[in-house]
Amino acid sequence: MPSAVPANGFFHRHGTGVTKFTNCFLVRGDDLVQEDLWVSSVSGKILNGQEMLYGERVAPDSIVDLGGKILSPGLIDLQLNGAFGFDFSVVSEDGAMPYGKRVQQVNKKLVRTGVTSYTPTLTSQLSEVYQKALPFLAPSGATRDAAMGSESLGAHCEGPFINPNKNGIHKEAVLQSPTHGLSSLASCYGAANLTSPIKYITLAPELPGALDTIRNLTALGLTVSIGHSEASYEEARSSMQAGATMITHLFNAMEPMHHRNPGIFGLLGQTSSSLHRKPYFGIIADGIHLHHTTVKIAWNAHPDGLILVTDAMALAGMPDGTYDWTNGSRIVKNGNVLTLEENGKIAGSSIQLVDCVSNFLNWTGASVPEALKAVTETPAKMLGLVDVKGSLREGADADLVVLDLQESGVSKGKKFCVEQVWKFGEKVFDKEEDGKQA
Ligand SMILES: [Zn+2]
Repeated sequence: MPSAVPANGFFHRHGTGVTKFTNCFLVRGDDLVQEDLWVSSVSGKILNGQEMLYGERVAPDSIVDLGGKILSPGLIDLQLNGAFGFDFSVVSEDGAMPYGKRVQQVNKKLVRTGVTSYTPTLTSQLSEVYQKALPFLAPSGATRDAAMGSESLGAHCEGPFINPNKNGIHKEAVLQSPTHGLSSLASCYGAANLTSPIKYITLAPELPGALDTIRNLTALGLTVSIGHSEASYEEARSSMQAGATMITHLFNAMEPMHHRNPGIFGLLGQTSSSLHRKPYFGIIADGIHLHHTTVKIAWNAHPDGLILVTDAMALAGMPDGTYDWTNGSRIVKNGNVLTLEENGKIAGSSIQLVDCVSNFLNWTGASVPEALKAVTETPAKMLGLVDVKGSLREGADADLVVLDLQESGVSKGKKFCVEQVWKFGEKVFDKEEDGKQA
């Protein structure tokens, strides 16, 4: 407790939990601005620096000099199937660690890559898998514990209501049609899982019952994305009118654009109006799923809708080899290329989200804030969390990543390096300290 106003006029209240970042560039909308940022580890939120300084006359507990580096909102991955040897869609517990513990382990490792929140993604599975896995993938909600690592914003169910002709690596035998609308979904995912833990669902809008299902899911407050689909442009547009707002990994597992039938991609050519809103869309910028120019075309068509996703799976960070996957399939990992052993189809990626941002920057000519927006503000908007995540505005969660933009050596271009990660106003990763420990 301060007994008198100190000489400098500020109360140094002990343990205010306030940190001030200085000598840094903040990502604010489409600009990088040199400004300080104040955060609280007590509320876990971003503070109004002016008010702290002049109104409440609070001095920060600590001042962090970032040496001119970039301070961005924490990254958000809307499509992550697993990582660090664990697949969210594998619930078997043959002597290994329980499912919930494995998820916690992934969260703690994932946060160190700069991904402070994400939507854990389940591929098409039998009902029993959803019923077992989903409760562990629920949003952490009121817990707000930085020590837990990266935070689930709710699960993404990709399938099983997708088109068997565009199944990709999803096992055809488990695919279904939502013929009976919501009750089809309730019996598959479990009625109790339908609002929380599930945050969004990818389905194919041309399947019987799909449009009614989209209307009902939207009414329940869920987000619907279309994908793994053979939808025509007209079918895709109807799904948007029914309430879908997103396209899952645009270009992959759908019809390519034909000049007389622009297909799902055609939605990006619409003029936005009250009736037709252009959708958000996921892009896998790993250098394998899409040509660089394809990514640039999509971005030019609708920059505010582009969301970079990894679609990474359990083998991210594992040595090359052949690995057992779900439903009796096996996946061959050769460097960053993952293919299904039985048919050679691309089987997700093993890239980190921050590297997708570097690729995107180099391929499209986007500015640094534009590239970071695709993994912060835009995914937060897509999830309806714009005031909570993905922004450095006062009141938003203090999930932050400090980035250094380096010229990458041999290959031309730039590369983002994760220097520090902060979750709810507390530092959870520091590359420098980590290097000393190692
Ligand atoms: Zn997919």
